[in-house]
Amino acid sequence: MSQKFDVVVIGAGPGGYVAAIRAAQLGLKTACIEKYVGKEGKIALGGTCLNVGCIPSKALLDSTWKYHEAHEGFKVHGIEASGVTIDVPTMIARKDQIVRNLTGGVAALFKANGVTSFEGHGKLLANKQVEVTGRDGSTEILEATNVIIASGSRPVEIPPAPIDQNVIVDSTGALDFQSVPKRLGVIGAGVIGLELGSVWGRLGAEVTVLEALDKFLPAADDQVAKEALKILTKQGLKIRLGARVTATEINGSEVTVTFTDANGEQKETYDKLIVAVGRRPVTTDLLAADSGVDLDERGYIFVDDFCATSVPGVYAVGDVVRGLMLAHKAMEEGVVVAERIAGHKAQMNYDLIPGVIYTHPEIAWVGKSEQSLKAEGVEVNVGVAPFAASGRAMAANDTAGFVKIIADAKTDRVLGVHVIGPSAAELVQQGAIAMEFGTSAEDLGMMVFSHPTLSEQLHEAALAVNGHAIHIANRKKR
Ligand code: FAD
Ligand code: AMP
Repeated sequence: MSQKFDVVVIGAGPGGYVAAIRAAQLGLKTACIEKYVGKEGKIALGGTCLNVGCIPSKALLDSTWKYHEAHEGFKVHGIEASGVTIDVPTMIARKDQIVRNLTGGVAALFKANGVTSFEGHGKLLANKQVEVTGRDGSTEILEATNVIIASGSRPVEIPPAPIDQNVIVDSTGALDFQSVPKRLGVIGAGVIGLELGSVWGRLGAEVTVLEALDKFLPAADDQVAKEALKILTKQGLKIRLGARVTATEINGSEVTVTFTDANGEQKETYDKLIVAVGRRPVTTDLLAADSGVDLDERGYIFVDDFCATSVPGVYAVGDVVRGLMLAHKAMEEGVVVAERIAGHKAQMNYDLIPGVIYTHPEIAWVGKSEQSLKAEGVEVNVGVAPFAASGRAMAANDTAGFVKIIADAKTDRVLGVHVIGPSAAELVQQGAIAMEFGTSAEDLGMMVFSHPTLSEQLHEAALAVNGHAIHIANRKKR
């Protein structure tokens, strides 16, 4: 006899595991199916984010920043640190331990909340039945009142650069190099390409990033993107814009990459090549022909503003549906869907999802860029406060970048907060909170900020919007 659940979740990444925990908290009998086999050969919960995404990449970014600081940043403080070396396998093992802790933590949360875990591949059949195929090939059917699909995404592969996970790797392979490649090529100057390029660049790899677009970080504010390009280039990343990769050839342990840019066809040889050209939704063998769930024209599961699919009682969240491919977006969608199933009127604000690039300095933003607001014909006032004018940033010897606040010229309402600088991801969250409450630049300017903090640059930028900044020269005075 098949088991019956109020909610069956397919996939235990940030979208799925959060949805499952919230549903169980709300008293719904909940199951979650996961098939991912981790490094230990066992099913690991947590999805891309915990296993091969957000967390391992941040672990390596943190390790390599410490190494970089020991080499480049200590001297100015009078600290002599000669003979500092990196043991890459230890760094990777530390990263793996963090992954184990967190994925094990999700399993513990499932237990604590009474979520039933199924190991295997989930497939949605007709009438909200879900087939689970175990690792041994056995199958069972779960009967669900509601189904939440959270099958996530996987790296895009491009024909000119097939992944062999040895010389040509995707982001997963790039989190597991056992030594520092001397020459590293990266295809794609997106978030993942820049973060992974930074990791290995800090350890001494000569990094070349090949980006097909002429524009750097098109989703970011232009002023931020320009500053980011300047700083990352100064750090040694060779970022070649307008460079489209057309072919690769592996010769033993190296790869020769052919690309075309404004100067015509070129070739470069690297010891490793990371392909980071984006991610696409995972829907392979997920939906039976008669499941009734539709995909959109780009292959994502089609959902409405509340993540409901074309079948009543079937929802989809996270990377497998439209919108930003970010863990915090997936998690919030998971919560919203679980609460709506439980009869609450939950919803989320898609306009205020922060984006972050965890390079150093970090790059983060929430709301709209100056160029997109101008394109919409919105008149704006802009305030910029550089970290070079921050006592706290000077004390930390971390003064690159700035906070930029964009406000509606008529209403003073804050429409965008953009930060490139130390702890940008944390700072921009303050902007997100303020914007959620409909703040004006004047409101932010009237608040008391602790001194000395990096957050004070948010205050100064807000004051600068209306020409009242104290610690920097105002572009316009009022
Ligand atoms: P996923 O995390 O992909 O989880 C989906 C899960 O479903 C997987 O475990 C998969 O095995 C399972 N699954 C799929 N199909 C089935 C099936 N049929 N049956 C059973 N199980 C199935 N985002 C951020 O917000 N911040 C970051 O710093 C960040 N860094 C990243 C760094 C890298 C290198 C990468 C690759 C991604 C990063 N992301 C980051 C993106 C983030 O990982 C994703 O947005 C997030 O994981 C999406 O969550 P999800 O639950 O939708 O899907
Ligand atoms: P993202 O989707 O943010 O991860 O970024 C991926 C980047 O890879 C995009 O900016 C694409 O323009 C870039 N890209 C895709 N295909 C190629 C290619 N063949 N050569 C160089 N860059 C590419």
